[in-house]
Amino acid sequence: MNKLLFIGLLFVQQLSFAAEVNIYSARKEALIKPLLDHFNKETGIAVNIVTGKADTLLKRLEVEGRNTPADLLLTVDVARLIRAKEKGLFQQIDSELLNKIIPENYRDDDKQWFGLSLRSRVIIYAPDRVNEGDLDSYIDLADKKWANRICVRSSSNVYNQSLVAAMIANYGLEKAERWATGLVGNFARPPKGGDRDQIKAVAAGVCDVALVNNYYLAGMLESSQKSEVVAANKIKLFWPNQDGRGAHMNVSGAGVLKPAKHKKEAIQLLEFLVSDYAQQWYADTNHEYSINPEIESGSVLKSWGKFKADDLNLSLLGKHNTDAVLLMDRVGWK
Ligand code: FE
Repeated sequence: MNKLLFIGLLFVQQLSFAAEVNIYSARKEALIKPLLDHFNKETGIAVNIVTGKADTLLKRLEVEGRNTPADLLLTVDVARLIRAKEKGLFQQIDSELLNKIIPENYRDDDKQWFGLSLRSRVIIYAPDRVNEGDLDSYIDLADKKWANRICVRSSSNVYNQSLVAAMIANYGLEKAERWATGLVGNFARPPKGGDRDQIKAVAAGVCDVALVNNYYLAGMLESSQKSEVVAANKIKLFWPNQDGRGAHMNVSGAGVLKPAKHKKEAIQLLEFLVSDYAQQWYADTNHEYSINPEIESGSVLKSWGKFKADDLNLSLLGKHNTDAVLLMDRVGWK
């Protein structure tokens, strides 16, 4: 073969291998990087990731408009996915595979965002000061018996906003507000810190009960920091609402952006993220629940047993987000 032609062919081949996909991620890089590396190894598609706070990324996408280099937005709460949809940032994606694997209530009706992993906001408690039999539901946490005994992080946290939005969706605004008033009245201290800090506060006796996402407790149980393991072992998890609608669920998820220049690769990545390999990784490493019921949970999650999950359509959490934020402000949830 002519040498020049050979070099030319090599160049063309390299170009066709230069496939890439660009992600804006509100999920910390460490919590997804090994998966992205695996995807890169399998497909040869390079993955570039920019991480930041969800609201900052949404602003950035709006400013960049059609010139954004991003193909995919990844978040850790459904409310932000819905906000992105409302801002017109996503495009509709028709993927048989995504529709088959992801249950209907964990993906957008208009096929604009898709849940990729599940987390539950659970009650944790100090078993030396709380009888398991005294715990029941989220609603019950407004009961006077919990006065000065509850720790929760602030109302600016989107996990709390989504929980309150679910309470509005399930019980109506009035009952949800009565509940939140009682709950805030039972706080042991003004909200501060993240979910891990609430777990530490219960372990330290600052409060007896807290609301946290399940994976924080699991992460502390398997932490490399001894103090976290010690604190987490003083705590037990309680599944709320098991006689009612089930425990409140949320998703981490993603959507393909309207101006995506690598749409095909972005869809390929989404489909990889719901594969058995990726879902098993979420369960084993991130201590989240798989959106695919056929995937087995990791050992810590397994030790908490099977539970009833609220099957509320998560789109409703976005619909009620503003009402939730206003409600929390009215009842003095700092
Ligand atoms: Fe989190």
